[in-house]
Amino acid sequence: MTGITRSSSELHFELRMQGFGVGTWDLNLSTRELAWSDSTRALFGIGNVEPVTYQLFLSLLEPRDRERTDQAIRRVAEGGGNLDVSFRVGGSPGSGQWIRARGMPRDEAGVRHLGGIVLDINEEKLLEAALRTRETHLRSILDTVPDAMIVIDGHGTMQFFSAAAERLFGFTEQEAIGKNVSELMPNPDRGRHDSYLARYRTTGERHIIGIGRIVTGKRRDGTTFPMHLTIGEMQSGGAPYFTGFVRDLTEHQHTQARLQELQSELVHVSRLSAMGEMASALAHELNQPLAAISNYMKGSRRLLSGSQDPNASKIENAMDRAAEQALRAGQIIRRLRDFVSRGESEKRVESLAKLIEEAGALGLAGAREQNIKLRFNLNPEFDRVLVDRVQVQQVLVNLFRNALEAMAQSPRRELIVANAEVADDMVEIAVSDTGSGLHDDVKPNLFQTFFTTKETGMGVGLSISRSIIEAHGGRMWAESNPSGGATFRFTLPAAPIES
Ligand code: ADP
Repeated sequence: MTGITRSSSELHFELRMQGFGVGTWDLNLSTRELAWSDSTRALFGIGNVEPVTYQLFLSLLEPRDRERTDQAIRRVAEGGGNLDVSFRVGGSPGSGQWIRARGMPRDEAGVRHLGGIVLDINEEKLLEAALRTRETHLRSILDTVPDAMIVIDGHGTMQFFSAAAERLFGFTEQEAIGKNVSELMPNPDRGRHDSYLARYRTTGERHIIGIGRIVTGKRRDGTTFPMHLTIGEMQSGGAPYFTGFVRDLTEHQHTQARLQELQSELVHVSRLSAMGEMASALAHELNQPLAAISNYMKGSRRLLSGSQDPNASKIENAMDRAAEQALRAGQIIRRLRDFVSRGESEKRVESLAKLIEEAGALGLAGAREQNIKLRFNLNPEFDRVLVDRVQVQQVLVNLFRNALEAMAQSPRRELIVANAEVADDMVEIAVSDTGSGLHDDVKPNLFQTFFTTKETGMGVGLSISRSIIEAHGGRMWAESNPSGGATFRFTLPAAPIES
């Protein structure tokens, strides 16, 4: 050390330490004089002959580290113990060299000294900073992942609880970490989860890991909800950890329930409509035979009036009754037809976009797998219509299903739904496909009851659809597209603009 005589072994030792970025220092606490080894001087960027004092040392530090370092040194000088303090050597902020100083007080010839070593810890600090940056990155990614994420150790103790998990379960991260993950489950899973983990530890059999399934979660307030859980396994420091990704299915199940409701409404209405169609076809078909029966009865009665048969009056009476019943049969059928076609039509102001979207979800189920491109070209200006929602959705579902069937063999499968204003008070909806199109011999019969070209077709869909549209005061027709495929169009009354 400068100013102190050194043996050659001391010199060697110091040279070796210098190679590792280690230097020595000694502070005389009464004179405040500092003795620095050459490597310490090199670390601080000070020449080998310049005298160093405690004041100079402090002035070499980055201003924001000075006070903290000074206090740490004073504390040990006055109170004893070990010194361990890290600071940056000045220069432009942030570019400072990181140094860690360690030392302890001692008495030398009645004078108190504080001495020890200094280490270059730049690399550690850089690594630390890089780690911190990565950790912040990772955290901000995890905080923005919409799925909740929870990490547990092999005993089920929660180690990480993402922001989405906080929102979903109602626990804060601090509350959750350290608790058993079974707190997030209702019974029976809650009571069994530890044994699930134990079973996996011993058998290695996977029941949920890597598979994912729907389970029930429990919020802090005790309420439960359906969730989809996927679990991944990882090893860290030789110990197993499990990461769970949780997706809340509440919304999904509401949507499913709504779709199911819609479907049953539609089924109900289509049954009613099919019955109506059937009844009107029956009424039409049966009218003639019934009228014929009635006429034959009248003729027979006339013939009978000249007869002397003692039972004549009884037979006449019976024939009158029979004719009455034939008429009544006709009336029953007509009434049934009226009753069904009147239905429980409930017209309200509805949004076309919403109607079409919901009907699409039902009618186009499986369309994606069939590689069908679906486009809604909807002009929001002509969105409000005055209709019976369920009935119009029945029409749309029908058109969508027909279009899907017509496109089954097409190389290009595109379905476009568009709306436009056709008159002040009417909106037109067009459903175009790129399917087989309409042959000339099919066109005139499309809307006839029981007309079908399909093996298992009923042939009532389009005729019911047209009746529904006409009951709304609209029209329905079909066209062939110039580029192939068909377009079905119908009009509906626009809702009066609210004042
Ligand atoms: P179904 O679908 O039970 O046959 P519909 O009344 O809905 O009854 O349709 C009647 C017929 O109209 C179908 O069998 C088919 O030949 C024809 N058709 C309906 N939609 C289309 C379409 N998008 N493209 C081509 N043909 C169609």
